[in-house]
Amino acid sequence: MIDLSGKVALVTGASRGIGKSIAAEFSRCGARVALVARNREALEAVAAELAGDTAIFSADVSDNEAIANLIKDVETALGPIDILVNNAGITKDGLLIRMSEDDWDSVQAVNLKAAFTLTKAVTRGMMKRRNGRIINITSVVGLTGNGGQSNYAASKAGLIGFTKSIAKELGSRNILVNAIAPGFIETDMTADLPADTKEALLSQIALGRLGAGDDIANAAAFLASDLAGYMTGQVMVVDGGMVM
Ligand code: NAD
Repeated sequence: MIDLSGKVALVTGASRGIGKSIAAEFSRCGARVALVARNREALEAVAAELAGDTAIFSADVSDNEAIANLIKDVETALGPIDILVNNAGITKDGLLIRMSEDDWDSVQAVNLKAAFTLTKAVTRGMMKRRNGRIINITSVVGLTGNGGQSNYAASKAGLIGFTKSIAKELGSRNILVNAIAPGFIETDMTADLPADTKEALLSQIALGRLGAGDDIANAAAFLASDLAGYMTGQVMVVDGGMVM
C-alpha cells in the first residue's frame, strides 16, 4: 500500500470519473484531499463516500480569478498543498472544417491553460518548501493525434510540453512533474461513443479490455509517492497496450 499520510493533495475534476478515482485512492493512501469541480452536489456525494479527511471546493478551473482564491481556501482548510493533480478536462469533438473558435478555445482553457494557472499558483509555496508533486492527466491522443479531436489532442500534447518544461525548471527545488496518458477509460466522457467506435478501439488494445478509473488512480498514487522520487518529466502511458 502506498503511503501518502501527512500529504495534502488537490485533485481537479474530482466529482466523477478518473478524478474521483484518484481522489479516492489518495484518500485511501492517507492523504488529505481537496476535491475540486464545478458541481458542489456531486462533490458532496463523492466526499461522503470517502473515509479520510477531505474538503470540497466548487470552482471552474478555467476562471483565473477563482484559482487564486481556490488555492488560498484549500491551504486554509487543509494546509500547504504537496500534490496537485490537473485532471479536469473536456472534449468538444468535431472535424476541423466544422470546428468553431469556441470549441477550440474552451478546450484549451480547461485542458491546458487551467493547468498553467493552477500549477503556477501552487508552485511558489512548493518552491519555498522544496517539496512538491505535480501530475498532469494528458491522453494517448496527445501522443498520436486523433481525427475529429484536433482541439483536444492539441491541448493534451501541449500539456506534455508543459510537463517536461516545468520538470526542467523545478527539478532543482525537488518539485517532480509528470504526466499520465490514459488510453480508453470507461467514464462519462467515453460513455456516449458509438458502439462501433468502441469496438474499433477495443481491437487496438493488447489487454483486450477498456481501462477503469482505478487503473489511472494507481499510477497517480505511485507518482505522488516516495516510490517515484527519481522520476520527473515523464509521460506514463496507462492504456492496456494501445499505443506502443
Ligand atoms: P469526465 O467527463 O468523467 O470528468 C471530468 C471532470 O472534470 C468532471 O469532474 C468535471 O466536473 C470536471 N471539469 C470539467 N470542466 C471543468 C471546469 N471548467 N472546472 C472544474 N472542473 C471541470 O472525464 P474523465 O474521463 O474522468 O476524464 C478525466 C481526465 O482524463 C480528463 O482530463 C480527460 O481528458 C482525461 N482522459 C480521459 C480518458 C478516458 O478515456 N476517459 C482518456 C484519456 C484522458
